[in-house]
Amino acid sequence: MSRIGVLALQGDVREHLHTLGALGAEAVPVKTPQELARVEGLIIPGGESTVIDKLSRMYGVADALKARIADGFPVYGSCAGMIMLANTIADPTTNLMGEPQQSFGGIDMVVRRNAFGRQVDSFEVDMQVRGLESVSSQDPDEPTKPVRAVFIRAPWVESIGTSVEALATIPAANTPMNADGVQVDRIVAVRSGNLLATSFHPEVTGERRIHELFIHMIRGEA
Ligand code: GLN
Repeated sequence: MSRIGVLALQGDVREHLHTLGALGAEAVPVKTPQELARVEGLIIPGGESTVIDKLSRMYGVADALKARIADGFPVYGSCAGMIMLANTIADPTTNLMGEPQQSFGGIDMVVRRNAFGRQVDSFEVDMQVRGLESVSSQDPDEPTKPVRAVFIRAPWVESIGTSVEALATIPAANTPMNADGVQVDRIVAVRSGNLLATSFHPEVTGERRIHELFIHMIRGEA
């Protein structure tokens, strides 16, 4: 059985622990470098990336996690967690000292925070996500069953490097207009080696296949 951590500094930690537990994984909250050393993979939950950034540096877990990511440690980030895995944040918030927020990095991508608008612009949509074919809770009678994706002040991925695979794209009709008054498709799920990130929150809808894919990645089966 895999022992998987959920970074428990801020955000919807409990929902991720619950989804992992429902899949038979041993799921534990992680706050410190010592706790991080004892897990085989880590989920960074949705929440507020500026707070996760600050607290992770305060708890001394940020540097330990960056080192593990560089060694190929499996990490899945949802929403704020996706922002924390981006090498580049397009519009980082700066604190009172003028310092921009930091991410752990690991995925060669540029992510834009709050890209779909404010809290009131949150929405849900059914979406195809690639890479779920092999997970066992996939319905055999409906192998391409869409994922119910919940977007809450969500980021999108503006660009990806060649090492990154786009797993899901939200159609232009669901995206706000850009500065030129045009709606364009946006990437909302990616995988890069052992790192997985989604703009949306599968942990709040009872959707388990994204977490199952992550467990397969930890076991080296996907
Ligand atoms: N907008 C948040 C951030 O920048 C992310 C929102 C979420 O995780 N639901 O961290």
